[in-house]
Amino acid sequence: MESGAVFAAGLHPNPPPCSAHLLRRAKLLPPPPKLFSLQLPKQSHFASFGNYNNNNNVTSLKVASPASNVAVELADIDWDNLGFGIMNTDYMYIMKCSHGENFSKGELQRFGNIELSPSAGILNYGQGLFEGLKAYRKHDGNILLFRPEENAQRLRMGAERMCMPSPTVDQFVEAVKATVLANERWIPPAGKGSLYIRPLLMGTGAVLGLAPAPEYTFLIYVSPVGNYFKEGLAPINLIVETEMHRATPGGTGGVKTIGNYAAVLKAQGAAKAKGYSDVLYLDSVHKKYLEEVSSCNVFVVKGNVISTPAIKGTILPGITRKSILDVALSQGFKVEERLVSVEELLDADEVFCTGTAVVISPVGSITHLNKRVSYGGSDGVGRVSQQLYSALTSLQMGLTEDKMGWIVELK
Ligand SMILES: *Cc1c(COP(=O)(O)O)cnc(C)c1O
Repeated sequence: MESGAVFAAGLHPNPPPCSAHLLRRAKLLPPPPKLFSLQLPKQSHFASFGNYNNNNNVTSLKVASPASNVAVELADIDWDNLGFGIMNTDYMYIMKCSHGENFSKGELQRFGNIELSPSAGILNYGQGLFEGLKAYRKHDGNILLFRPEENAQRLRMGAERMCMPSPTVDQFVEAVKATVLANERWIPPAGKGSLYIRPLLMGTGAVLGLAPAPEYTFLIYVSPVGNYFKEGLAPINLIVETEMHRATPGGTGGVKTIGNYAAVLKAQGAAKAKGYSDVLYLDSVHKKYLEEVSSCNVFVVKGNVISTPAIKGTILPGITRKSILDVALSQGFKVEERLVSVEELLDADEVFCTGTAVVISPVGSITHLNKRVSYGGSDGVGRVSQQLYSALTSLQMGLTEDKMGWIVELK
């Protein structure tokens, strides 16, 4: 699943097992000695930090940092048991602008709660968008982002639909880099997970009559997350939803607006109560073509052909989706973006989902109108899903050469 929905819907409701950090947060351990060893690049948006009120911890674990040749102290948490829950980190990025103007300058602030007017546009009328991407720590100490400019462009498209100003691609990417570097000690060691990056764009100005908000905030926060699949890929079981729809033509299904997500909780919750992992949505007009899962895109494999529903306004244009199509092509598969009917799904060799959090999630079974079809052999993990997962994650973690030019190095 895309981790946005994972945070929200609590696919992993249990926080990571108690670490010293969590115990301290719960005031079960005394605060750590005042130590601050974060190395911050000298850039304009690092100007304002407020007070560094150190209630976090440092450990003797150190990671080589090739650029500065200084060892960065890692946060004192149990890196082997990271889950997908939200964990507070050191800094967040904030940039504001008025309606009708452009974003110009943002700054890093200590991570913490934000203050909003009760009549903020985002609270009253849902004028907001989110993004999701990850930073990986490489074995040599470098930090890698995966196609951040794609997230920037997608946010811009969404902002246009939601009548909001948006940061430029450069502003977005620079802000992501600054936030990741400021929170460097929260990036898991190579192989243990990644730093999930959550940009938000929202109408924070006060409005009462229905109108675009007078002021906007672009905010980025981060949280370390574990590898979604610790013991190899695990298949999910989906149920085809025949009553509710995620998106309609002309609506906002194609952009990552916050309002799309509370609306899928009901169907997802009902599916989970029946033992399924999530819901697969059908198109709302013909009620027979595949759309996507609550927060990830869907693919069907038949022979050497990999097909996925075409982007036509009701499907979120996933960056993992787009990348998997290119990786599959480069590996000699035939790829098709078109209408995919539910009959075709039930006749497929393999089915998988894609999204930033999981990268690829193999589908072990699909249930449609009381008919259950299983895929992927005895362990439910198809060969193609496994192969594409390995190829894309190796690229993202810097284990294979980046022939696509998708990786942005931070150091
Ligand atoms: C974010 C999202 C995806 C996956 O997009 P990625 O860029 O691959 O993370 C798919 N579907 C929905 C509805 C989403 O919100």
